[in-house]
Amino acid sequence: MKIYIDGKYYDEKDAAISVFDHGFLYGDGIFEGIRIYNGRIFRLSSHVRRLFESAKGIYLNIGIEQNAMEKLVTEAVALNQKRDGYIRLIVTRGDGPLGIDPFKCPRAKIIIIVGDIQIYPREYYSQGISALTSSYRRIPADCFDVRIKSVNYLNNVLAKMEAHRAGCLESIMLDHNGYVAECTGDNIFIVKEGALFTPPAYQGALEGITRAEVFKMALTMGIPAQEKTLTRFDLYNADESFLTGTAAEIMPVVIIDGNPIGPGKPGIITEKLIQAFRSLIKQG
Ligand code: PMP
Repeated sequence: MKIYIDGKYYDEKDAAISVFDHGFLYGDGIFEGIRIYNGRIFRLSSHVRRLFESAKGIYLNIGIEQNAMEKLVTEAVALNQKRDGYIRLIVTRGDGPLGIDPFKCPRAKIIIIVGDIQIYPREYYSQGISALTSSYRRIPADCFDVRIKSVNYLNNVLAKMEAHRAGCLESIMLDHNGYVAECTGDNIFIVKEGALFTPPAYQGALEGITRAEVFKMALTMGIPAQEKTLTRFDLYNADESFLTGTAAEIMPVVIIDGNPIGPGKPGIITEKLIQAFRSLIKQG
C-alpha cells in the first residue's frame, strides 16, 4: 500500500506524521471517506466538494484547487491498483508549535490512504442490526456545525461505545431538543406508509452522499422521500428503518431501544433500495 503524505508516497510501515501536526494535537482537520467500486471512484467530485466546504467551515486553506485534489486522489488509487476499496482523504491544519493557534501552522497537510473497509459483518445486511438512542446528544450547530466533517469524532465515539455496552451495533444520536439527528457515522432513514423520511441537516445530520443517492433512487423508483423532523416516537412506530453511509452503505435497522421496527426484520422498501444501490455501484 502506498500512502500519500504531503507530496510524497510512502510504504505503509513508513507512513507517519509529525507529533506536532495539529490534526493529531487538537483534532484540527477534516476528512472524507470515499469508495472505489468496479475501478471507479464513487462520487469523487461530491466528496471533494464537501471536503472543500468543510475546509471553509474551519477557515482552512487546503493550498490546492478542487480539480487538483480530484487528480491527486485518482492518482493515489491508480498507483495502488485498487478496483474496489475505500479511500481516506484527510487534510489537517499541518505542523505547528504547541498551542492551538492555527495561524502558527503555515501549511495544510494532505494525506490519502487507499485501503479497504468493512464496518459490519456481511450477514447483518440481510438480517439487520439493533440500535440504541444515545444519551450523548449531537453537538448543536451554535457550538459546532456537524456538517463540517472534522477529524474530531469523540462525541460519536462515546455514543458508539454506549451502543456496544448495550449489546447494539450502532447509536442513533438525538439533538439537544430530543429530535433525531443521525447515527455515529451514518445517516438514519425511516419508512412510514410507503414513504421515506430522514432528519434535515440543520437538525444535526451530515449531508451524506449515500443519503443523497437514496433520495435519487427513491425518485426513480417512485417512492416519496423527504426530510422531516423525527422523534423517538417516529422511530419506534416506523414500518422500516435503515442507515446509510459510504462505509456502511445501506444497512437495515430492525430493533431500536429494544422495540422491533415493523415486523423486526428488514422491510421490503429497504431491501429494494439495497438492491438498487448494488446495481448502481456496479456501474461505478
Ligand atoms: N454521518 C456521519 C457522522 C458520518 O461520519 C458519515 C460518513 N461516514 C455519514 C453521516 C454518512 O455520509 P456519507 O454517506 O457521505 O458517507
